[in-house]
Amino acid sequence: MRMTNQRKEIIQILKKSSQPKSAEMIYDELPKKTMNLSTIYRTMDAFFQAGMISKSTMNHTAFYYLNQKHHHHYLICLGCQKMYEMDCHIDHIADEVAKHHHFKITHHDMTVYGYCEHCQTQN
Ligand SMILES: [Zn+2]
Ligand SMILES: [Zn+2]
Repeated sequence: MRMTNQRKEIIQILKKSSQPKSAEMIYDELPKKTMNLSTIYRTMDAFFQAGMISKSTMNHTAFYYLNQKHHHHYLICLGCQKMYEMDCHIDHIADEVAKHHHFKITHHDMTVYGYCEHCQTQN
């Protein structure tokens, strides 16, 4: 994938962040508004296809995060919408399934939804 300056800027924003970010949040953090939202969405799709980022969806909004050395996923609370980082436990299973289907996995995507401890006690 060609790394234009625009793409580098987006990667920098994701690198600095400890939480997944939506395209709107990324747009807000761009130092210079050199790209519009639809460019950001297209760029995020390209990153996703290339396996550079993962995404979790909440309320029809995608939140993106970098695939780093420490591969991880998110638990998303449907009550307070907090995102909790979790370790990946499916790499091993994915490998077995891939072998069975003679499938070459480049990356995978997973989000777990539910209610956090705090929100469970609200009901
Ligand atoms: Zn919650
Ligand atoms: Zn994983």
